[in-house]
Amino acid sequence: MIPVRGYKNCFVGVLGLGLSGIATARALESGGASPLCWDDDQAVRREAKKCGVQIHDLNSESILSQVSVLVVSPGIPHLFPKPHPIIAKALKKGIVIDNDISLFFRSFALNSWSQFQKIPKVICVTGSNGKSTTTGLIHHILSENAVPVESGGNIGRAVLSLKPGIEGEVKVLEISSYQADLARTLQPDLAVFLNFTPDHSERHAGNGGYFAAKSRLFTMGAPDKSIIGVDEIEGLFLSNVVREEFKSAEPVIAFSVDSMLKGFNWSVFMKKGFLIEWRNGRQVASVDLREKIYLAGKHNHQNICAAYASCRSIGIAPKKIAAALSTFKGLPHRMQILGRKNGVLFVNDSKATNCASASKALESFKNIHWIVGGKEKDPGIEGLMPINKNVKGIYLIGSSEKSFSKKLSQINHLKCQTLEKAVKIAFENSKPSDTILLAPACSSFDQFASFEERGNRFIELFKEF
Ligand code: ADP
Repeated sequence: MIPVRGYKNCFVGVLGLGLSGIATARALESGGASPLCWDDDQAVRREAKKCGVQIHDLNSESILSQVSVLVVSPGIPHLFPKPHPIIAKALKKGIVIDNDISLFFRSFALNSWSQFQKIPKVICVTGSNGKSTTTGLIHHILSENAVPVESGGNIGRAVLSLKPGIEGEVKVLEISSYQADLARTLQPDLAVFLNFTPDHSERHAGNGGYFAAKSRLFTMGAPDKSIIGVDEIEGLFLSNVVREEFKSAEPVIAFSVDSMLKGFNWSVFMKKGFLIEWRNGRQVASVDLREKIYLAGKHNHQNICAAYASCRSIGIAPKKIAAALSTFKGLPHRMQILGRKNGVLFVNDSKATNCASASKALESFKNIHWIVGGKEKDPGIEGLMPINKNVKGIYLIGSSEKSFSKKLSQINHLKCQTLEKAVKIAFENSKPSDTILLAPACSSFDQFASFEERGNRFIELFKEF
């Protein structure tokens, strides 16, 4: 755990008691603060209490008035679509709102580090898609090369539950837009911007807010090195801002899967299946990604370019990165190949919760029986029109069913409501060498607790055949 510094003998409000809320409460206590914790959900409060967390109703004016700062979980809106009532009250009282990522940065660097020869570094990874895969891949490459490393953040381990830094260590943090938006302190040594496609418009009041939230990691965080995907205009814009703003030597490594970036001092790009590292006008290394790589597809090449550039910045040699790349098998629920039944391939891409990620899966397979739907996001299925020609059948599930069906009125589809029914019918309709793909393009919360639960149910159904 990383004890939180700066709030000794103070009351600190903790709103939201999921993984990160509980870790925050513990880290605050360990730093000498008194956390006053609350969650609107009674069952969550009960569970938190079992973990030793002290519950105090932050709705009460007298309790809220005592706190020096209110630490908020990423799932709780602080501005849009409208602030949580406790946050609105706290703002009126002039109480500062913050989050665990910020407390991590305020508490991570220690005076005792003066004995270290290699000060611990923090890499932050953000982007619309591929964050977890890239975070996992950086972690894998570093650990294969004997660099002490830990990962956390949006990837499932709360940042404050990580261990204090040790000599030469790297912490790799996956940072969502919600986390970057609220953090008062952001101080990554190295930050990665993977890509940008519309998402989460409700929480950021549109794409501008979403982009601004992610940009904070770079403009406010001022990392020594920014690794920026420039295939979209947003990344290109950001890389120009960073190059202008931070005049240190080589503040940016740009990367691309679409174009050969020879105009940048330092860049990484794809050329005919090879990853090329370009520096000061010449090629300095190349890695063959055509074979022996589990992470397939152009989108994964994007993740690989970003991870490669990150590990190069840490000082790992290209050959060593290449060796580690060939042993990384990817993460579950991200285009996860489950196997074949009667020749039919089953692919679990439950993490494809938006159009951009679902479209990558549709591009990657042939003769697809596509299971799609859940809690609808903007853009809905319109974002995937015209439907990819690889799709042979569409099986709708979840609360988006009615709306998707209306939008697909000109295209054959089946209303299945549940994942169970969709898998059963899709299998009956499949021929050997077809693919049954779960790529919902929606979040899971209408029928499941999480994308993991949805993916695990799909895996169970596959195993039942
Ligand atoms: P995130 O953490 O940003 O949600 P993940 O690595 O968990 O990203 O992948 C989420 C979904 O996006 C999966 O369906 C995966 O196949 C797809 N994906 C992974 N990398 C990319 C990328 N660079 N661009 C688009 N889609 C991607």
